[in-house]
Order: sequence, then structure tokens, then C-alpha cells
Amino acid sequence: MRNEGTGAWPYRRVRLSSGKTAITFRNRATTYLELDDRVTRLAHALRSLGIGRGDRLALLSTNHPAYLEALFASGLLGAIFVPLNARLTAPEVKYALRDSGAAVFIHSREFGEIARSAAGAATRVVLDGAADPDSVGYEALIAAADSSRIDEPVSHDDPCFIMYTSGTTGRPKGVVLTHGNIVFSAMNAIVDLDLDSHEVALVCAPLFHTAALDFVALPTLLKGGNVVIEEGFEPGRILQVLERERISYTFGVPTMFDALSAHPDWETTDLSAIRRVIVAAAPVPPRTLRTYTERGIKICQGYGLTETGPGALILPPDDVERKLGTAGVPHFFTDVRIVDADGREAAAGEHGEIQICGPNVMREYWNQPDATDDAFTDGRWFRSGDIGVADADGFVTVVDRLKDLIISGGENIYPAEVEAAVLEMPGVTGCAVLGVPHEKWGEVGCAIVSLANGCELDHDQLVAFLAPRLAKYKIPKTLVTVDEIPRNATGKVRKDLLRGQFA
Ligand code: ATP
Repeated sequence: MRNEGTGAWPYRRVRLSSGKTAITFRNRATTYLELDDRVTRLAHALRSLGIGRGDRLALLSTNHPAYLEALFASGLLGAIFVPLNARLTAPEVKYALRDSGAAVFIHSREFGEIARSAAGAATRVVLDGAADPDSVGYEALIAAADSSRIDEPVSHDDPCFIMYTSGTTGRPKGVVLTHGNIVFSAMNAIVDLDLDSHEVALVCAPLFHTAALDFVALPTLLKGGNVVIEEGFEPGRILQVLERERISYTFGVPTMFDALSAHPDWETTDLSAIRRVIVAAAPVPPRTLRTYTERGIKICQGYGLTETGPGALILPPDDVERKLGTAGVPHFFTDVRIVDADGREAAAGEHGEIQICGPNVMREYWNQPDATDDAFTDGRWFRSGDIGVADADGFVTVVDRLKDLIISGGENIYPAEVEAAVLEMPGVTGCAVLGVPHEKWGEVGCAIVSLANGCELDHDQLVAFLAPRLAKYKIPKTLVTVDEIPRNATGKVRKDLLRGQFA
């Protein structure tokens, strides 16, 4: 057997485009030829540290080309890559390392303290050079390693990586995505977004989430385009990069797009090279979509989960004006259905759970067979836990998470709908609506709102603004103002934290 997996992509790409730039990072370009050489050497080095077929290799860093190099190198060996969320605390890192059983742990120096306390028996490899006698330097390892071709058989069914879900709904679960899952996720992006070999794609969302990795970096490299990696998200700098690098494609969560358009340089930045951008991972405020479409930028809303690699739905670029506000249609290789409370496929206009089936959908949760069983129904349909509604043309609007649904006096309130309405208020910068117990109605909505500097808001003003927009039962009965709405790395509101504080 041959290497069918992602690990073979760099050397296969060398046959087609060896001298082209694959990755740009800190103003340095790496060609496909250099990428292949580094990946091959890294694989040899990892092998010398004991990594082989099925073994796990973890990484903790801000965005860095090592994410791609380590993914490809483990793919060459048939090993499994475990990118860790850079916002995790030491006990959470320890949990992920233990749960995955990682034998090698690559990290940047800024995470040294967490890494030392969490590494256990794993060999530590430090990206910016060995920091202490118990670790080895990443560059030194690569430089000293053999560069001969590695010929390990790897199939589409072999695990490629384990990604821990962000944990906004409880204990993190390790989502196992196979090489086949990654191939089809990349193909979905290429087909549906018409990615080509001239693509200059910006990665500014975290590479420890599937969207930046599987939906931006990997499909761009599969097509022979150029991936520009930014370590973090600083809006002024990102605007400069969009203009200077003539970025044609990127992905962001709604709060990232809002931060760009709120920046003083937004009006004067040349964004004419952008062919489309993807926004997903959290409810997208209508005003975000309007700001970008008014500027002539095709902003395609996507929808998915780590478990679906991530793409399930995408609004095709040509339908952006016509179907703005929807998350579009299923990806090319993917099927999506909306299932009502009785388990029947919902008709157009009816709400139900979004379920997903296709070659991009995960195989299992790592070491959690019961959770895996619960996640699937009717064989291979993955239960998203999200509510959606399709229109007559099959375009799906993501309504909310099932577990966030508020039932008030027998009526369903979808917090995301109320939040979107509140966000239309001038001066409101963030909003989360929670269900709180109520004697008469069972549950009512409580709005937690953050405001721009110098702005004030009381409950009467909120009611007056919402009254013409929402049915009375949907209008929050109480209002709390906070300095900032807590969010996770993908911009999702941490309702779990807010519930603990306010509900
Ligand atoms: P956990 O599984 O621990 O709860 P998580 O759900 O935050 O973590 P992700 O896989 O990062 O893990 O996020 C998937 C969720 O993101 C979806 O279930 C959905 O609720 C939300 N989401 C994604 N895209 C959209 C969108 N376009 N509109 C609204 N919500 C979205």
C-alpha cells in the first residue's frame, strides 16, 4: 500500500510546483520544495524520538508553520497529530495530553511553564530552541535529521488528527478525523469556493481549530496556493496584510470581521484582491454581513462543527446577495437533513435538528465509545445539537443550539434571534440571552449586554427598541450590563460561564 494520506501532499506537490511559495510566515517564504524537505526531516526526527504508526504527537503554540509541518510529518509516519487549544490552562493541557497519550509534545517557548507542568512522560520539543535540559529544539532536530524519502503505508481510514472540542458544552472530547475526512473537507472547500492555484489565503484564526486548518490552510496547499500565516489577530495588522499580500481568501469568526470593519484603517485599506471570505463558528449578526456586502466583498456564511471537519453547510459565493443570512446548502460531498422532534424530516420552513452525513464527518470520539454512539443516529447521520430551518430552495438558516433554547409559557425562544435583534441597537457591542427560571412562565430571557465606551442602556430602552422587532414573549425580562461578554477562541459566547454567574 502507498501513502494515501495528507502526509504525502508536500512531496506530491513538489512534482507540480516545487519553486512556488507554499507558506509565508514572519515575512519569510517557504517553497513547496523546502516544505517537503522540512516535513521529511521532521518525520525522521520524530521517528528517532519513538513516534511511529498510531502514536500521538501534540502541539501547543500560537499560529505557526509547525502546525502544518507536524501534521504532514505525522501523516508520513501514520502517526496522529494533536493540536491543542492555546487558551487552555495547565490542567486542561494535562488532560488532553493524558487523554490522547501523546509521546512527543511540541510547544513554543511562551507556553514553557504550562508545558513543563503538563508534559508528564512526553518528550518536549521547543519551537524557539531548547529552553532547558529536558527539552530539544525543533529547528535543531530538523537540521540534524535524515532527508531520505519515507515510504510508510497510510490509508484514508487511518486517523490524521485528534482535535479537542472547545468544551463550551462540558468535558472536552477528542474528535478523531481520518486522512479521508481531511481529503474530503479540503475537496469540499476547493469545489464549493472555487479555490485555485493562485490563491493567497490568510490564516488568522487559530490553527488549533478545524476551520483554519482544514478549510483554509490545507485546501490551499492541496491546490498549490500560498498560505500566509499570522500569529495572532491584531485588526490593524491584519488589514495591512490583506492589502500587502493581496489576500484572496480567508476565514474568520464574526467578532474578527467586526473588529476589522471597526478599525480606523478599514475605509482606506485596499481589499480588492479578496474573492470571498468565510464567516462561521458562531451566529453571524446581520449587520456584519451588511457591512461586508456593502463594500462589495462576498462574505459566505458557513456552518459546521469540529466533528464534521468542519464544513457542513456553505453559502455559495454567487448566492451571497440572494440568500444573505443563511448558511447556504450542504457542501458538495456532504448531505444535511433537518429532523423534527418526532424524528421525521422537516418540511421547508419547519424547525428541526441539523444532521450531517458524509466523508468529512468524524469517525469517533477518542476513547469515548458511548459518546460516539450518542452522536450518531440512523447509522451515519451525525446529530449536531443545533436547530436549523431550510427554505423552499433548500438554503438553511442556523437558528440556535438545542440546549440554549428557552421555553417560556410553552413558546420557543431562540436566544440567537433575540441576540441578533439586540445587537442592532446602537452602542451595543455584545449580547447573550440566557433562560432564567420564572414562576409564571417557567423560563424567561435575561439579556446580558456589553456597551461601547460612554454608552448606557436600561431595561425600558431595551424593551422600547425590541417591541417593534420581536414578539412580546421573546423580549428579555431582565437586563444585565457587563464590561465584556466572555468568549472562547472561536468567538463563541461562553454561556456556561454566564449561566454560572447569572442564571
Ligand atoms: P463543544 O462541542 O464542546 O460544545 P463547540 O460546539 O463550541 O464545543 P465547535 O465544533 O467549535 O465546538 O463548534 C460548533 C458549533 O458552532 C456548532 O454546533 C454551532 O452551534 C456553532 N456554529 C458554527 N457555525 C455557525 C453559524 N454559521 N451560525 C451559528 N452557529 C454556528
